[in-house]
Amino acid sequence: MRQTDIRRALIRWYERVRRDLPWRRTRDPYAIWISEIMLQQTRVAAVIPYYENFLAAFPDAAALACAPEEQVLAMWAGLGYYSRARNLQKAARTMDGGFPANYESIRDLAGVGEYTAAAISSIAFGLPHAAVDGNVRRVIARLTGSDAGIQPHADSLLDRSDPGRWNQAVMELGATVCLPRDPLCDHCPLAGFCGARREGRQSELPAKRAKPEPVHLTRTLLVIRRRGRVALTPSALVRGFWDLPEPFDTAAPGPVLASFRHTITHRRYTFEVRRAVAKSIPKNLRWFDGETLSEIPLSTIARKALGCLVV
Ligand code: SF4
Repeated sequence: MRQTDIRRALIRWYERVRRDLPWRRTRDPYAIWISEIMLQQTRVAAVIPYYENFLAAFPDAAALACAPEEQVLAMWAGLGYYSRARNLQKAARTMDGGFPANYESIRDLAGVGEYTAAAISSIAFGLPHAAVDGNVRRVIARLTGSDAGIQPHADSLLDRSDPGRWNQAVMELGATVCLPRDPLCDHCPLAGFCGARREGRQSELPAKRAKPEPVHLTRTLLVIRRRGRVALTPSALVRGFWDLPEPFDTAAPGPVLASFRHTITHRRYTFEVRRAVAKSIPKNLRWFDGETLSEIPLSTIARKALGCLVV
């Protein structure tokens, strides 16, 4: 009875306030898959233009499968975590018979974990799998007043009459109302059922995982120009991408032209961008003119550095 009341209250709220997001206007499993992979570690507002451009360039798995990897990575540039883009293409190449239509086969796709498989199979195919991401984990922990047994609780709460809508409703509550800090309990459709609210323990649930201490690092990038071209090196971090080189034997760095910060997990970098001259350049470096620069996959760091120089 109580679970029925919770479902009714949440679905009524969701139907009233749900955000109109482009991937909510389709049941195409391919499009939902692309959106779910993009949304991993990336905010909704940032994903929307990438999602629309990606689907325009690669409207289905066959188009993605036969695209050059460089083009896929270029479309992904700025979203980060490029292994996600590579896995998308790897998985698309296994879809000769169409998009898999059951949880286990979706779970077997490269780059797809339990959460993503549950989200795709419930939203695209209406299959009864509860999707538990960070937002859902927080809602369930607070609702039940406990960190324990999140997945079983999510499974038992699942609205089997429309699992896709239910999963999206719980995620929506976590993303817009049951916020990590300062949840908006006065506006929450589940306030009357919530264990954490009853006990005033919202800030304790879910228990926080210890974060590693930030490490501060300084790196130098060189801008070496010759006859209107600039020297780039293959990225050591992201295969298939290009970076500005760091100091090497035959390069003479000049003054700092610009500096910027960039964070990768707990590493906080300060990059100094210096003009440099070089008698010769290492074999792995290549010269690119301005026009080509806009067509090749540049690392986020290289784009930030070159952007600093243009402004
Ligand atoms: S009442 Fe507050 S803590 Fe409980 S689910 Fe709603 S927003 Fe989250």
